[in-house]
Amino acid sequence: MEQPWRRQIPSTVRRLWSSLRESSVPTYLVGGAVRDLLRGVRPHDYDLASRRTPEQVIAWAHQHQWRVIATGVRFGTVSLYDPRAPQCIIEHTTLRREGRYHDGRHPDQVDWTDNIEEDLARRDFTINALALTWEGRLIDPYGGQKDLDRGIIACVGDAHRRLSEDPLRIWRAVRFVGMDHHGQPFQLAQSLQSAIERLWPQLKRISVERQRDELWRLLQTPHFGRALWEAERFGLFVVIWPHWRMTQGFVQRNPYHRYILNHHLLYTAQEGPSPLLRLTGLLHDIGKPWTYTLDAKGHGHFYGHAETGAVLAKNLLESLHFDHKTIRTVTALIAHHMYPWEQVEAKTLRRIAREWGDEHVQQLWILRKMDIIGAGYHTRWAAEERVKRRWNEALSPSSSPTRLAINGKDIMRWLHLSPGPEVGRWLKQVQQWVDDDPAINDPQILKERILNAIK
Ligand code: ATP
Ligand code: MG
Repeated sequence: MEQPWRRQIPSTVRRLWSSLRESSVPTYLVGGAVRDLLRGVRPHDYDLASRRTPEQVIAWAHQHQWRVIATGVRFGTVSLYDPRAPQCIIEHTTLRREGRYHDGRHPDQVDWTDNIEEDLARRDFTINALALTWEGRLIDPYGGQKDLDRGIIACVGDAHRRLSEDPLRIWRAVRFVGMDHHGQPFQLAQSLQSAIERLWPQLKRISVERQRDELWRLLQTPHFGRALWEAERFGLFVVIWPHWRMTQGFVQRNPYHRYILNHHLLYTAQEGPSPLLRLTGLLHDIGKPWTYTLDAKGHGHFYGHAETGAVLAKNLLESLHFDHKTIRTVTALIAHHMYPWEQVEAKTLRRIAREWGDEHVQQLWILRKMDIIGAGYHTRWAAEERVKRRWNEALSPSSSPTRLAINGKDIMRWLHLSPGPEVGRWLKQVQQWVDDDPAINDPQILKERILNAIK
């Protein structure tokens, strides 16, 4: 029987699922993929489950020309992919029931089972404790479908016990708030909220990497703004970033700001169009409490907070082991977010664009918009269009970094240099002169400038 949801599943997944169940071993699609198919959202990963042990799955895969990555064999998980479509990785996890937890991370013992309902019982939330058979029968012993229909996140079983077993479920609950339910965010069941209010300090037992991954997934959800406010309500940012406490309730005493600092950070993040800008928004003013001064009129100032904030943000992101590129991009945006764009000269804009790339400048502009709106001043943003026009002029192709009229060979000849980093340093210097004043981009003039500079 053809099922409507089956057509939404990528053909590689269908092929694997279909051939796995052919050997009369019931094989289920489980967890988040079922949840998303039922909501009409395309799942971003697919998990299959059956009573096959990891060793049996590996042997089966070798016979059937599937490649295997033995990701978490101890916990029953094997990743499979077709060498012709290596980007589509599908996990198979042996049906299991779980013993007690000691470390709040992995159960002390894992027992295999052939009972799908037992397997679903160990899953975190009712909406994730769902399984589908190949024939299209939904297995839903904990009312997951009903909670999906109501937009509710509730634990399988007692919330307090389930969160104590694995406190990462706190972050997971909060990120699922960001999912869409008919245009609204999901809601946490009352029992789950009470459990989080009591148990959030237990998150300290969980590795920073796992918490970071959930935060990053949260930042990608449709209602991430709401999820961020929930994370703050439960104190989750203080768990991952103890510095965050300084922002909470911090009154800025500044005419450009309507909100206390942590609220400003959340409102700013909320305006971000991408996960990266949302993360940047969340941290962009983190330097403020460290640079706060009060003038005679009673106004707060934060001189140098962008630079201080960039250093702090670097520490905070490194502490979560974010990748190098993300750290570099976010901290550069934070360091530059206070440029007085209305005053800077075109050449400064060009220099930033050259050093950091056009995309960086575009993102700075978006961050500026997020910042102004996040400060509670939508109307002030309208006036900014004037500034943007100046930018566009400064950064238009006709005035973008000029191609130099000389090259490294010229410099080596004039200065009697051999190839090496010194030549590169000269080229950088010359590029800067020319960006500042395109009129001097002439071999003769540049030669004189260079020879004068070494006198
Ligand atoms: P996503 O759509 O973002 O992948 P997901 O719910 O599928 O969300 P995964 O990390 O892929 O999240 O996990 C797959 C399934 O494994 C979940 O749906 C849930 O059933 C189970 N699961 C994952 N993490 C936990 C956990 N910490 N505790 C209990 N069950 C979990
Ligand atoms: Mg998943």
